[in-house]
Amino acid sequence: MAHFDTFKLLPPIKQALIELGYKNPTPIQEKSIPSILAGADLVGNAQTGTGKTAAFCIPTLTTLLKQDDKSALILAPTRELALQIEKFWLELTQFCKEVNSVSLIGGVPMETQVKKLAKNPRIIIATPGRLVDHLQHDHLNLKNIAVLVLDEADRMLDMGFAPQLNEILRLLPKKRQTLLFTATWDAETSELAKKFLVHNYERVKVGETSKAAGTVKQKLVNTTQDGKRDLLLEELNAQPGATLIFAGTQQKVDRVMEYLESYGVAVNCIHGGRSQGQRKTALRELREGKIRVLVATDVAARGIDVPEIAHVINYDLPQIAEDYIHRIGRTGRAGATGYSTSFLAPEDQRRWTEIEALLKKTDSAVPRAVAGKQTRAANADDLTPESELAKPSKKPTRANPRSKRENAWHKGSVVVKPLSEQRIKPKNSK
Ligand code: AMP
Repeated sequence: MAHFDTFKLLPPIKQALIELGYKNPTPIQEKSIPSILAGADLVGNAQTGTGKTAAFCIPTLTTLLKQDDKSALILAPTRELALQIEKFWLELTQFCKEVNSVSLIGGVPMETQVKKLAKNPRIIIATPGRLVDHLQHDHLNLKNIAVLVLDEADRMLDMGFAPQLNEILRLLPKKRQTLLFTATWDAETSELAKKFLVHNYERVKVGETSKAAGTVKQKLVNTTQDGKRDLLLEELNAQPGATLIFAGTQQKVDRVMEYLESYGVAVNCIHGGRSQGQRKTALRELREGKIRVLVATDVAARGIDVPEIAHVINYDLPQIAEDYIHRIGRTGRAGATGYSTSFLAPEDQRRWTEIEALLKKTDSAVPRAVAGKQTRAANADDLTPESELAKPSKKPTRANPRSKRENAWHKGSVVVKPLSEQRIKPKNSK
């Protein structure tokens, strides 16, 4: 087995790795660190969890320690990922603090970042949108960038950052080293690589599209958009423990959270419309057990490390089939049994067909759809809290732009099991 010693790293890096308890490089580190140290441009096909952050940070820091007039830029799709990279960077530079960093991400005041930029940080960790904001205000220039890292490049493209990436590319020095990391490799990522990397870049790959963990018991439930709400309560009652719920859009996340709150469930959420502080609080609350349920969009959940999830619920199926495997991989870790439940409404069928094909291709277990339990009947006098949900919000806000139609509760399908018999009860129930 390889050892970090074989890379002949500089003393402050070696020391930091000892401090971090890293002894042996992971496969992506073993394959990419020597090439990056030798100055090659590189495409790394690797997902979160493979050790890719250290794979690009270790050689990047080596360059910065050897060339003290140079700096590096790391671009990441989400604030969470950028902060995670910065956290690792701070750990890695604990014995060479002169290599200072700044993170340029949305949700944090520009002025705070401008003050840090004034200290000429050697490493800039940024989301593309916020970096372009700063560039447009002349808060920094990129002429000393010797190393550029595009982390989760596929996700940046999915999120529509191509225009910002092009703008950044225009301002970067032509002579630089570029490292592009991506979980998937398709026409778009290959096009991006062509644009950013020199022709003879190296490509290293670890693992195929990972397969769904065998430790996760998957369930697929046939339902309708409206039926999802009842099923959600059923699922939360049936399966104890910390639960991560994925919904399709920011608005959907807000509404699911509001719905659960109305039943007294300790819940919080993360999505792109929430401030950095709100997202951090939500993650901390889940870690500390202050909330049981976290509702999230895929984008916000990307890169976050949430330990001990008992149950992942796909309230909405993901748009990208691979995300299904990432999502359910958040439970059933370290050999423990985890549970995942996916709601399948008729309009989600096409997405499920793609997920099913991917599960088969990766030799993963494929759940069979079961009928959703009907918990409500037409004749019950179930007036709360759905009747409240049917009302549009008095003051729609950006975080809560509720539409009347989507919130309308279908009266025709209400209540078999009175709410009083449900374990999750509305806050105001006697
Ligand atoms: P990443 O894929 O960069 O998000 O890393 C996933 C996890 O693996 C992080 O918690 C890292 O701290 C950890 N890690 C990365 N490289 C190593 C290593 N060589 N030895 C032990 N842990 C590592």
